[in-house]
Amino acid sequence: MESQSQQLNVIFVPYPTPGHMIPMIDTARLFAKHGANVTIITTHANASTFQKSIDSDFNSGHPIKTQLIQFPSAQLGLPEGVENIKSGTSQEMLGKISQGISMLQDQIEIVLQDQQPDCIVSDMFYPWTVESAAKLGIPRLYYYSSSYFSSCSAHFIRKYKPHENLVSDTQFFSIPSLPHNIEITSLQLEEWLRTRNEFSDYLNVIYESEGRSYGTLYNSFHELESDYEQLYKSTMGIKAWSVGPVSTWVNKDDVEKARRGHSKDLAVESELLNWLNSKENESVLYVSFGSLTRLSHAQIVELAYGLENSSQSFIWVIRKKDKDEDGEGFLEDFEERMKESKKGYIIWNWAPQVLLLDHPATGGIVTHCGWNSILESLSAGLSMITWPMFAEQFYNEKLLVDVSKIGVPVGSKVNKFWASVGEDAVVKREEIAKAVALLMGSEEESIEMRRRARKIGDAAKKSIEEGGSSYNNLMQLIDELKSLKISRGLEKTN
Ligand code: UDP
Repeated sequence: MESQSQQLNVIFVPYPTPGHMIPMIDTARLFAKHGANVTIITTHANASTFQKSIDSDFNSGHPIKTQLIQFPSAQLGLPEGVENIKSGTSQEMLGKISQGISMLQDQIEIVLQDQQPDCIVSDMFYPWTVESAAKLGIPRLYYYSSSYFSSCSAHFIRKYKPHENLVSDTQFFSIPSLPHNIEITSLQLEEWLRTRNEFSDYLNVIYESEGRSYGTLYNSFHELESDYEQLYKSTMGIKAWSVGPVSTWVNKDDVEKARRGHSKDLAVESELLNWLNSKENESVLYVSFGSLTRLSHAQIVELAYGLENSSQSFIWVIRKKDKDEDGEGFLEDFEERMKESKKGYIIWNWAPQVLLLDHPATGGIVTHCGWNSILESLSAGLSMITWPMFAEQFYNEKLLVDVSKIGVPVGSKVNKFWASVGEDAVVKREEIAKAVALLMGSEEESIEMRRRARKIGDAAKKSIEEGGSSYNNLMQLIDELKSLKISRGLEKTN
């Protein structure tokens, strides 16, 4: 047993949006399972989405706890419990939640000063933690919640600006300096890259903080994107550890999979599981656009008909916009029809995604190319229909379609966050049905794609077993942080 003074104390500072927070919590739990003393700083409502897992780890003897801070809901006029970007149903509400998150800095600084950890694992969106770590004389790890591929792509586009001076914003160009020829249009680039705005300036501060970090943690694995892992390390000149897929590593049983990122337990979803259990293996398509995206009514109608006209059973997770949105009747009728025919199952707002993807009846996914959804699908060995929406999702699509060759693009053309998207339907029902037929079909091309996806899934599982690449990376990182702690201790005594 290590004495208390030898034990490594690591503080995790997650950013409250599911795509960032969920993988960081998984990673924090992995650190605790491998001997680090872990504290997660977060607010009440956010803690409620993962506290059961933390309690169960703690009760199994892993040193992990949550340190609560107060979200300024009342001050901002936000309803109680609205403390996460996923709760924003309008542009105005999203603005207030972001403001509330930025107001947490002082409280977080106090906890850091108070607890004097040996390392801070910080979400990328808190650039100021570089200074906090410097004050404490400890390493700061930058937690990036997407792929090496997207990080390198965005880096070289920012550096060489190949999207400027093109004839049109729909003209394809190659992303410079990548090991593969990857073509993209200017309209598919992040909104803040296309047109400079306040967020572009904030991102520059973030990238600058990345360069000054001790290293970066990636929820990825060597076998998936080794060329880009290498390129990232050589380009950024900082260390990087691939420790994923963290979800598969830490959430082993169905109870854990179902409650991941969610305060409710499995029983609530049992009607859904009965439905899924009644389906043949690999026959169901899972359709989800992640934790944030809310589709326009016109797009919902196209997707509904696209799915209904396809020959596939499906589960569709729908997140609605504000309540006064018209068209409620359409979805009610659609849900009723799907219930009667047993062809489709609609889940409102939040699905036990990892549980569903790992279910033997699930055979493919329609994804918005959020990195976590991609990794979770890969771990389940699923090929995907790619329908990127915003941020770095279009780069992730290119990785799946052009590099790994396990993605069928639906034909998404414009990079835009849901709250600023108009009311048009961007992708038509015919395109959706066509992509579904290719993904789930029995042509050679479809079978090959599924074979490649399964192979990547096997590699993902191997990487987190003892002796696997991600396993070794995590052990090496924890050892390195312990050595740094010992050296600091020696410096102090000298
Ligand atoms: N998620 C979930 N149920 C949902 C929606 C999302 O469990 O109904 C989880 C999903 O498994 C993933 C995360 O939330 O871990 C979403 O992250 P991702 O990077 O896929 O996309 P984002 O939500 O950031 O766009």
